[in-house]
Amino acid sequence: MPGRGGMRGGPFSDLTEEEKKSVPKVTKDLLKRIFSYLEPYKGRLALVFVCIIISASMKLLPSILTGNIIDEGLIGRSIPKLILYILLSLLVTFAANIIGIVESHLNTWIAQHISFDMRNQMYKHLQRMSQRFFTTNSQGDIITRMTSDIGGVERVVTSTFTNIISNVITLVIAVIAMFQKNWILALIGMVIIPLFALPTRSAGKKRWSITRQSQEFNDNMNDILNETMSVSGQLLVKLFNKEGYEYGKYRQLNKQMIDLNIKENLAGRWFFVIMSTFTKIGPMLIYFVGGLLMMKTDSSLTVGDITVMVSLLSQMYMPVNSLLNIQVEWLRSMALFSRIFEYYDLPVEIKNRENALKPASFKGDIRFNDVSFSYDGENDILKHIDLEIKAGDCLAVVGPSGSGKSTLINLLPRLYDVTGGSVTIDGNDVRDIDLSFLRGGIGLVSQDTYLFNGTIRENLLYAKPNATEEELREVCRKANILDLIESSPDGMETMVGNRGLKLSGGEKQRLSIARVLLKDPDIVIFDEATSALDSINERKIQDAIDPIVEERTSILIAHRLSTILAADEIAVLKDGRIVERGQHEDLLKLNGVYAELYNTQFKIKQ
Ligand code: ADP
Repeated sequence: MPGRGGMRGGPFSDLTEEEKKSVPKVTKDLLKRIFSYLEPYKGRLALVFVCIIISASMKLLPSILTGNIIDEGLIGRSIPKLILYILLSLLVTFAANIIGIVESHLNTWIAQHISFDMRNQMYKHLQRMSQRFFTTNSQGDIITRMTSDIGGVERVVTSTFTNIISNVITLVIAVIAMFQKNWILALIGMVIIPLFALPTRSAGKKRWSITRQSQEFNDNMNDILNETMSVSGQLLVKLFNKEGYEYGKYRQLNKQMIDLNIKENLAGRWFFVIMSTFTKIGPMLIYFVGGLLMMKTDSSLTVGDITVMVSLLSQMYMPVNSLLNIQVEWLRSMALFSRIFEYYDLPVEIKNRENALKPASFKGDIRFNDVSFSYDGENDILKHIDLEIKAGDCLAVVGPSGSGKSTLINLLPRLYDVTGGSVTIDGNDVRDIDLSFLRGGIGLVSQDTYLFNGTIRENLLYAKPNATEEELREVCRKANILDLIESSPDGMETMVGNRGLKLSGGEKQRLSIARVLLKDPDIVIFDEATSALDSINERKIQDAIDPIVEERTSILIAHRLSTILAADEIAVLKDGRIVERGQHEDLLKLNGVYAELYNTQFKIKQ
């Protein structure tokens, strides 16, 4: 729809609905912030500007020299002058292109460094985000901001900024040169140019919208790939016999995308047909009016002048066209920066307070003092928890699923902060202890053990990069996994597979116990896997845990009787409250929540 957007529809008419919503307020602060990223490279930037100015002006010179070639060389019948101007034109073009290379190299260097800085800053910042951030935001969104948004910024620096400058310069010089030659023809040029730029603009817009659509299809195709080509996704597909269905979905999107790509190519062809026809009208008009002026008036206009005008005119199409689009481009860039800054501005929830304590080690006295906790600020998941675990003791936490057991243990290494009360270690509030010392002193074996896709050795060394071979073997022996490692042909170099999926649940858990042993923390938290293990595996895990529990202060979320019996005390959690506490026999006698859990779960698993 030509003329729908652009100048008549206001600055936002070329943006998509989604972009319109996110049009940022371009404030002084935003600009200042953006320019703060350019600041370290201002020397190089200045050089880029100089290069652009020189190369843009030089690129126009051959057009102007055409006049001399025609008037002085051809019409003046002077071979030396002809050769001189031809050589000069070639030389200038060559020099301009060389400067262009320097400029584009500098430019890329700056853009890459800015995106290097921004990406690092983002990664560092995101690493300080709390668990809440990662459980709330989709991985896809985080990755998009890290990759395509920052990639967009790179493009802004390499193309948008430099295009504005070089286009303005080209136009200014071309206009001055035209007016110097002849003001009437220059005026005609001024009127013609915008008229011809408009069809280009609408064709460009159409292409752009097709590109966007095909990008969307591409995103959707990636989504399907992401979901169905992952280990668990593919399992779901297979078990529900959805291969045909997924293939159909993929094929359809694939088809839509190629149709669009073909359409885009055609739109491109039409665009060139329109362009090349229209662009011929401008020069013809100049020839015609110029010819009239030359023949019918006593104007000093020469054939060369008219040729220069035509040549300059043709060089003005692209800059005018791109400057007409600049407002949209500019807003799009601002939106990109704003999206990135939005992430930068996310507050760090869990951080060190000033002069945080840095204890060399923990004795291990743990207390939960009237602890309450809520994920959303409304519903309390934990309510007035009071607990005490003496140094060296082992507490087993039991309770129905969803009663808040995992939430409780997450408060100790400050994966979340309490919303009421306090958690202390050796009498110090965990919020007063330096985070790296706090987490360094606590080992957590979670239910959902995470292993990197690497070798067993690499996964173990994550806990202690400088561990010796002897240490590695020792912890593996303690964690009851050494036999398995030694019996496999690759030993420590055995690959654990994507997320450790080449190992069984029990093996994974024992490996993660070995990893925690290598870390050698003062306090151990063990979240026992709920999934049933065979008795041999369970025995192996139990044997691995026992010594850890004996040597350290420990909290176990227990699902098995054997684990519970090994504990010094049992705390029973229900609906976020501690409802019973004591030893196994005493709790059974109460005939309450524990007794019910015992009868329905622990006894069976025994
Ligand atoms: P348990 O470990 O005893 O099974 P959890 O501590 O995992 O229980 O969960 C307790 C409650 O907190 C559940 O109702 C669960 O829905 C909720 N919950 C757990 N994690 C989150 C989270 N990241 N955000 C919001 N609610 C959560």
